[in-house]
Amino acid sequence: MILPWHQKASEKLDKMIEQNHLPHALLITGVEKIGKFDFTQNLIQRLLCNNSSCGECEICKALNNDDPKIELDYSALIRRSHYPNLIYCRTELNDSGSMSKDIRVDQIRAFCESLGKTADTLQIGVIFYADQMNNNAANSLLKTLEEPRKNTLIILLAHNIDRLPMTILSRCQTIHISPSYDQEAAQWLGNQIDENSRQDFDVMQLLEGAHGVPHKALEDLQGDYFFRYQGWQNLLLEIAVTPTKISETEIFSDNELDVLKCLQHLISEGIKIKILNHDGANLELNKVIEKASFNHLFKLLDDTNRAISLSQTTVNMKLLLDNVLVVWSHITNLNKYPAITHFQEY
Ligand SMILES: [Zn+2]
Repeated sequence: MILPWHQKASEKLDKMIEQNHLPHALLITGVEKIGKFDFTQNLIQRLLCNNSSCGECEICKALNNDDPKIELDYSALIRRSHYPNLIYCRTELNDSGSMSKDIRVDQIRAFCESLGKTADTLQIGVIFYADQMNNNAANSLLKTLEEPRKNTLIILLAHNIDRLPMTILSRCQTIHISPSYDQEAAQWLGNQIDENSRQDFDVMQLLEGAHGVPHKALEDLQGDYFFRYQGWQNLLLEIAVTPTKISETEIFSDNELDVLKCLQHLISEGIKIKILNHDGANLELNKVIEKASFNHLFKLLDDTNRAISLSQTTVNMKLLLDNVLVVWSHITNLNKYPAITHFQEY
């Protein structure tokens, strides 16, 4: 079954298959938990089963028995599918007994070697996640990508294409799975939640809190993340209405990055409301947005994005969030947009 938020990506793929334009290397991208792996499994089944992914033939059964996501307690270079012409490459336990963070060059060598044999029928190699390949591994894969073989499809999955070298990117065709805030995705999410707890909150809000990633929303709900997120969102809105509330931000401690993402979402939603020129579902947000100028909202969104990207550095997140919040607390009555000084060091 195709998940509703995979529909667009799936249509793009359909077109490639129908027109016989499936490339030698396919890159499937999207944020964590968006479902890249399931999407890939569906594609593989579709390509290999002769009976439109019947689920009953020998090939479908072999594929269904694969579970390459499971962590092995011994080290391996690549994993073979129950179907003979399919292999997987992923981070594995290394010889010293700890989980490796990278996909290493010896793994990619084994992967390419295995795909190097001529095959009469389609052979497929999957790397998840390609943005975990170290430099040597990426270089080693490049050689194989440069000399595509007949009947061979390499599928790379990646969370973040910024971490892939241009040389690899330029040799792949990309299919991107985007987050979704539409009714179908919300309905899917609602169906996964049992009826009793569904009454406690709005499914669309849950989906928004998870940045449009339904599986992430389910995970958030299992922990208390969703309710904490609601708390942050409410306090952020209070701060914009009553700037003195900025002294009550203990609940943000140790969650600075998530709070910045929450603010990013509020501002983007706000800009959307302002452009469409009608009120959104969140009454408090409507009030704030009505009084804020486009110019300041866009600038603050930029700064918030920048703050989020700095979280990868050694920046003091608490100071950074405080600086962004000072601007946000005055967003309804700013005359001149202030420069956020903390950025200048980076
Ligand atoms: Zn089948």
